[in-house]
Amino acid sequence: MLTLASPRSARAPNAGLPDTGEGARCFGRADVMTTPTMRAWSVVRPGPVEGDPLRLVERPVPLPGADELLVRVRACGVCRTDLHVTEGDLPVHRAGVTPGHEVVGVVARAGPGAGDFAVGDRVGMAWLRRTDGRCAYCARGAENLCPSSEYTGWDADGGYAEYATVPAGFAYRLPGALDDVAVAPLLCAGIIGFRALRRTGLPKGGRLGLYGFGGSAHLCAQIALAEGATVHVITREPAARRLALELGAASARDLREPPPEPLDAAILFAPAGELVPVALRALDRGGVLALAGIHLSDVPALHYETELFYEKELRSVTSNTRADGREFLVLAARYGVRATTHPYPLSEAPRALRDLKAGRFDGAAVLVHDRS
Ligand SMILES: [Zn+2]
Ligand SMILES: [Zn+2]
Repeated sequence: MLTLASPRSARAPNAGLPDTGEGARCFGRADVMTTPTMRAWSVVRPGPVEGDPLRLVERPVPLPGADELLVRVRACGVCRTDLHVTEGDLPVHRAGVTPGHEVVGVVARAGPGAGDFAVGDRVGMAWLRRTDGRCAYCARGAENLCPSSEYTGWDADGGYAEYATVPAGFAYRLPGALDDVAVAPLLCAGIIGFRALRRTGLPKGGRLGLYGFGGSAHLCAQIALAEGATVHVITREPAARRLALELGAASARDLREPPPEPLDAAILFAPAGELVPVALRALDRGGVLALAGIHLSDVPALHYETELFYEKELRSVTSNTRADGREFLVLAARYGVRATTHPYPLSEAPRALRDLKAGRFDGAAVLVHDRS
């Protein structure tokens, strides 16, 4: 473990720095030799992960801004969005960025404006890193729609590193019942699936259809089942259908068959727009279909009478609010929500991303430290 100087004396000249990690480079020349350093993965040249887009670099431990925490990373989940950042599917927002937005760690330093967090507290960092807190969307509690929002591991360095910073207001306190590796995938896949579930407005004891059954859907299903829903899973993957039934789904079918009863709500997790009319037809009168993905192929023309009439509704899902995250983490601990996890050493992050891309594991890969 790296030894850090006293937080307040060392950080004071850099208080108020933006959350870009640039603060670490603001040391005077004489300080360079004594600046603590860390290992971090950097996207040096976005491209196919089978090539060499990531480089393991030694760089100064970042200094937290006045309202930020410096977090010593213990575990970081590997999300498909990290693959999009690494391969350049998402535009570069920060050159040489460190990916990773399912971060679990402990506070190593707290800025003077970082609220009541203390050194040693366990915290989580998620995708939503900062909003402006002032726009019309933020004012009405829809901060997930803030046009000025910033994201961990895209606009600012994330958790594929030994240390990372996070605005204290966007750090999550984590339930003690969940260990570091188990909680990491909940911080993105879990929270997004939960928001999608709430967007459906599923009535108590209602009938829910899940189209696609990957990481996010299998966590969402556990919440819905714990709350008394009847869950029907529709996916072309036989292994996913088996997992659905093990978790307690009432049915698990291929895409060729409709669910065995009309649905009060459905969530489309698969990024396939052609399934939108399929799912709408499966809804009962007044039913709601939520679209959980950040990407979706084009939706074909809809047939009004069978797919929209009788007050059926179609709702998209965009990121999440902090309130979603906090509520989900409490419920996940209460209901014993569990992700299937596969630990990889931090030094093997590229292999974890290659395995994710190739579908070599179910559940989620989690990077853990292999040097202390
Ligand atoms: Zn805003
Ligand atoms: Zn993610």
